[in-house]
Formats: sequence, structure tokens, C-alpha cells
Amino acid sequence: MNFLPALITVEHHLELKEEIPSEILGLGEASAKALKPILAEVTVQKEEEDFLVTGWAQTSLSLLCGRCAEWMPWPVRARVEHLFEAPHANSIDLTPFIREDILLELPLNAVCRLGADGRCPVTGEFYQPRPESSDSLVSEGVWDALSKLKTKD
Ligand SMILES: [Zn+2]
Repeated sequence: MNFLPALITVEHHLELKEEIPSEILGLGEASAKALKPILAEVTVQKEEEDFLVTGWAQTSLSLLCGRCAEWMPWPVRARVEHLFEAPHANSIDLTPFIREDILLELPLNAVCRLGADGRCPVTGEFYQPRPESSDSLVSEGVWDALSKLKTKD
């Protein structure tokens, strides 16, 4: 996705709407996969000698849940906002900037969001809430007792 600075004037901004192949994200596929192309919608405005690019980029990814090791759908919508200062090349490539905007939206460690009942929405498995810290008010003995109860059934 690129634009030609020579074709944009202060009076006339440029609207761009394009699908960018998700391969540009360079996802390793070990913990993140792209399910569809990136849809980018931006406006390029000329302000004196600079260009301001604003808009959105969205796509749908699949991330590996750090808790259940299952793939979960992960829609991404990233805000795009970049200022290009003069002097300008004949053509300005927005693709690396959009890649950056999308990657910044991804969590370092993705985990599914458990329901109020502690159920994973992807696997349907139940998880017990973990004690806040090792020196919580609840003694270790209580957790031992609970785990013994669990293994009985
Ligand atoms: Zn999960």
C-alpha cells in the first residue's frame, strides 16, 4: 500500500482502501496465524510539506492460548497514525507502518478469557481461580485438600 506525494495537495486529500496480504506480518505460525488479509482504510492529508496518514487496519488472526494450548480467534483493529516529514520519496510505502501497527496490538502472551464460571470459551474446560500469591490468607493446606478432593472423582 503506497501513495504518490506529488498527487496530493493541501485542498485534496487522498482516501485509500486496500487489502494487504497477511504474509507481510511475517507471523511465525508457532503461536500466531493470519486467517485473512489485512483491510486498511486510511486518509492521506497534506499539511504544508508534511503528510499525515490516519485511519484503521483490521484483520483476523488465530493465536495460541498460553493456558490451554488451543488456537483461538483474535480479531485485530489497529489505529493507524503516521506523519511523514519532507523531503519525500516519489512514492511512500505504508505497508511496513501498517505491519507495525497491527503487531503492536498483539499481546505478548495470549490467553483465552475465562467466563465468570472459570470456563475457557474455546475448549470448554474449567479452570480454578489461582491463589493471588503464595502468601495469601489461604494456607497451602487448603489447596492441598482441594486438589485431593478433585482427584477423587
Ligand atoms: Zn483457553
